[in-house]
Amino acid sequence: KVRVRFAPSPTGGLHLGGVRTVLFNYLFARQHGGDFVLRIEDTDQTRFVAGAEEYIQECLRWCGLVPDEDPVKGGPFAPYRQSERKPMYREYAGQLIKAGHAYYAFDSPEELEAMREVEKAKGNHAPQYNRAIRSTMRNSFTLSETEVAELLEKGAPHVVRINMPENEDVSFTDMIRGTVTFNTSTLDDKVLLKADGMPTYHLAVVVDDYLMKISHAFRGEEWLPSAPIHILLWRYFGWENDMPQWAHLPLILKPDGNGKLSKRDGDRLGFPVYAMNWGVPGSETFTRGFREMGFLPEAFINMLVMLGWNDGSGQEIFSLDELIKRFSIERVHKGGAKFDFDKAKWFNQQYIQKADNAVLAQLFQPVLQEKGITADPSFTEKITGLVKERCQFVNEIWDHGFYFFQKPEAIDADAVKPKWTPEKQQFFEEWAASFDQLPDFNAVALEESFKQLATAKSIKPGELQMPFRIMLCGGKFGPQVFLIAETLGKAETIARIQHALP
Ligand code: GLU
Repeated sequence: KVRVRFAPSPTGGLHLGGVRTVLFNYLFARQHGGDFVLRIEDTDQTRFVAGAEEYIQECLRWCGLVPDEDPVKGGPFAPYRQSERKPMYREYAGQLIKAGHAYYAFDSPEELEAMREVEKAKGNHAPQYNRAIRSTMRNSFTLSETEVAELLEKGAPHVVRINMPENEDVSFTDMIRGTVTFNTSTLDDKVLLKADGMPTYHLAVVVDDYLMKISHAFRGEEWLPSAPIHILLWRYFGWENDMPQWAHLPLILKPDGNGKLSKRDGDRLGFPVYAMNWGVPGSETFTRGFREMGFLPEAFINMLVMLGWNDGSGQEIFSLDELIKRFSIERVHKGGAKFDFDKAKWFNQQYIQKADNAVLAQLFQPVLQEKGITADPSFTEKITGLVKERCQFVNEIWDHGFYFFQKPEAIDADAVKPKWTPEKQQFFEEWAASFDQLPDFNAVALEESFKQLATAKSIKPGELQMPFRIMLCGGKFGPQVFLIAETLGKAETIARIQHALP
């Protein structure tokens, strides 16, 4: 059975790359009738950030990529938070020690630091705890069996390290990259179990992928260098036949293609990199999100799937259901995908045009609320329908329709009344007074009576329309002016005319 997992560490907000990893996992699981698991990898207590797990869950809900098993709803392989699985990992580390694939190391932080200093002085600028160094340190290789047993008995602080083999090629097949080979001589004796009894990422990810019966592991390319360590662990545990198929997803690059898009790039380059706002607005660490910027989740997802994948047909707009049918990991590119914010906005605009006005109006509600405006939902919905073709973001409904919600303040008298005449003044007074006689207060009826009265008074309707627009909106913008009047309603239209007339 297909089982995939998204395994974030709760260390902060979720950026584009993270959500795209979720998306590819989700699509693959749905496509194969499999399960999508959310596992929280919180074994590094120094990097733990309160609220990050809830943020991730909310983000998945917003995107509509809801896991089948997760720390909150549970599942057959619970718990799904690694910190809650702590005792298990020690047993597995013990298995590796017994088989000679891992060993105890008792070096204190000071001793490790001293080792690094000595190595640096010798010209070794990136000292690693490896085969060469280990013979100079305090561990199972240099201490006698009795010494080790005594230290453990006393509860001396220690870690468990992998016994990295010497000069061995480790190969595996990646679904995107084909055969990938690393030589172990570049790898150090990674810590598997830390002094606090917590596993490191390497041990925990392998043990849990095994125990949770993960069949396919998709993750960002930045994890590729860790893959040989994981492959060795799968082998050392004797689980190779159950090893998931790997796929390391291409990086998301800066718009100019110059390097990986980093969390800090967003605010520097003027676009969000996080799915949702992260942090307290105004604080130093605050980072803007796509959601708060007015992206629709469907557009966000569609934009993301195209970062490193296409179906080869040139089609760009896909619904989630369509993606579930069409997505294929084999068509994911090896090379990095440049992020293009203009393109992201284009996707959003496409989805805004297609979206239901009531849904958009609902999303726009917080903007009104923030401005202290209460409006009837059906009124907001109508306005949304009138202005959405100009909007790339939900928030822009305000930019293109603010005058519906508030009377124009300072009317530019010269703009309303170029060559103003008493006749024109009279026209508006009479016309407004005639609204009660209209069979229905709609754009068609308004336009007709407007033209009739103008003709009767021998004024060119064209000379009256712009003033009328400015009375209603305060400027020379907006959709068809009689449509604006219809939407505002009779009372408000009369009030705005009267307000603008001297
Ligand atoms: N905990 C890792 C992360 O933060 C998971 C990487 C993986 O999927 O193996 O992304």
